[in-house]
Amino acid sequence: MKKAFWAVPAAFALSLVLVSGGFAADHGDAKHPAPAKHDAKKHDSHAAHAPHWSYEGPTGPAHWGDLEEKFAACKTGMSQSPIDLKNTTAAALENLKTDYKAAPLKLLNNGHTIQVNYAPGSTFTVDGKTFELVQFHFHGPSEHLIDGKPALIEVHLVHKNDKGELAVVGVMFKEGKENKMLASIIKNMPKEKNKEKTVASVNINATEMMPASPAYFHYSGSLTTPPCSEGVNWSVMKTPIEASKDQITKLSKAMGINARPVQPVNKRAVMETK
Ligand SMILES: [Zn+2]
Repeated sequence: MKKAFWAVPAAFALSLVLVSGGFAADHGDAKHPAPAKHDAKKHDSHAAHAPHWSYEGPTGPAHWGDLEEKFAACKTGMSQSPIDLKNTTAAALENLKTDYKAAPLKLLNNGHTIQVNYAPGSTFTVDGKTFELVQFHFHGPSEHLIDGKPALIEVHLVHKNDKGELAVVGVMFKEGKENKMLASIIKNMPKEKNKEKTVASVNINATEMMPASPAYFHYSGSLTTPPCSEGVNWSVMKTPIEASKDQITKLSKAMGINARPVQPVNKRAVMETK
C-alpha cells in the first residue's frame, strides 16, 4: 500500500495529501518516491511530534487558516464544508451510482480520525463523472447538520478521479441495531497512530456504509480538514444508517471529538433530491 502511495503520479499523491489532512505533506516530495523500506521510519518520526492542527484550543478550527500559509482557504474560502443542510432547493438529481467491491480491511488511526483505506477498483458516479473510492473515515459528532441537527457519527467516503478531483459522500449514523462492518473496525482498531493495519482475514464492502434510500443533498464544498481545499463534490445522504449505542460510544472514544463547525453557505446552491 505504502509503496503504491509513493509511486503514484504527483496529482494523485496531492489528492491523497489533501484527503489525509496533510499527514503525508510532512514526508517530503511526492515526486521523488522514497524506497518503501524507509516508510516505517518516516511514520515513527511523524508519530513523535504533535499534529499541526487539532479540534480545540490554539490549533483548533477557528485558527486553522492562520497556522500555515497552505491552510489559508480554511479562513478565506467562500465554499467551505461542512454546512447546515437547510433551505435547500429541490432538484431532479440523478441517483448516485456506486460499484463498491469487497476489499481487505486496512485501518489507520491518523491522529485526527479512524480511517479505512480502500483497495483500488471501486467506483462512484455523480454528475456524469466517475471517481474511485480511496478511503472512508468517521467524524463524531457529524460535521454536516440536517435542519440544524447533528447526528452522532458521520462517515465520509472519499473518492478521486484521475484529474485529482474529489467527490465525498457523507452518511449519518443513528442509534439502532449493531453495524457489522463497524464491529470489525472496532475489534481491529489500531493501537498505534499513523501505522496502517491490514487485517487480511477480514473482507469489508463499503456498500454497507450506504443507506437503502437514494435521497441525498448535493453541493460544492471543501475538505473539512486543513488545507480546506475547495472544489469538492459533496453528496450527503438524507437517511441515516444504524449502529449500536456501544459501537457509537467506542468509535467516538477512539477518535475524540473531530467535527469542524458548520461554515457559511454564502452564494452556493444546496440541492436536495425531489
Ligand atoms: Zn471527513
